Amino acid sequence: MARQLAEEYPGVLYATAGVHPHRASDYDDETDALLRELAGDERVVAGGEAGLDYFRDFSPRDVQREVFEAQLQIGVDAGLPMFLHLRDAHDDFLAILKSFRDRLGDVVVHCFTGTREELHAYLDLDCHIGITGWICDERRGTHMKEYMSDIPADRLMIETDAPYLKPRNLRPRVKSHRNEPRFLPWILGTLAACRNEHPETLAEATTRNAERFFRLG
Ligand SMILES: [Zn+2]
Repeated sequence: MARQLAEEYPGVLYATAGVHPHRASDYDDETDALLRELAGDERVVAGGEAGLDYFRDFSPRDVQREVFEAQLQIGVDAGLPMFLHLRDAHDDFLAILKSFRDRLGDVVVHCFTGTREELHAYLDLDCHIGITGWICDERRGTHMKEYMSDIPADRLMIETDAPYLKPRNLRPRVKSHRNEPRFLPWILGTLAACRNEHPETLAEATTRNAERFFRLG
């Protein structure tokens, strides 16, 4: 599906290829072969989402770990950047990522929502950090505001996680719950304020990072 869209809108849309930890139980040899094939497709710019989600636990944790490792191995073999999902699984996630890190290229921990200490563990592994509208959520994103300036400008990415996580600071209010790429400026604005930066400067930096990370243009 994602590859098809990327095919219809060349140079506008791109795809990643991976199995989300929620679906880890469905991963088999055929999946592995398909991901390896997709990794060679020029429209596929990263592997993932892959990772661990112990918040929802939709797949057993040992299966999640196994499938995470299998996909990191594809990233190593194909030389693909990796787009990683982490929720409530920092210790296991860090241990697995560490064991692959030297052999992997660029890595982003997407939709990062952890603690400052966790953030620094990933920065020490030279990971990119993806920030979503979570930062705009006054109910659960405030702890993040304090460490946004810790992220080096060349390791920061902004993202929507659409259709989820519509920024709560959208004005005027939008009725639909669906998040869309056009709401990115609200995340950018919040993030720029946390970092004491001009939104335009930050937009330029994060765009540059995304282009470099996904090797576009
Ligand atoms: Zn995710």
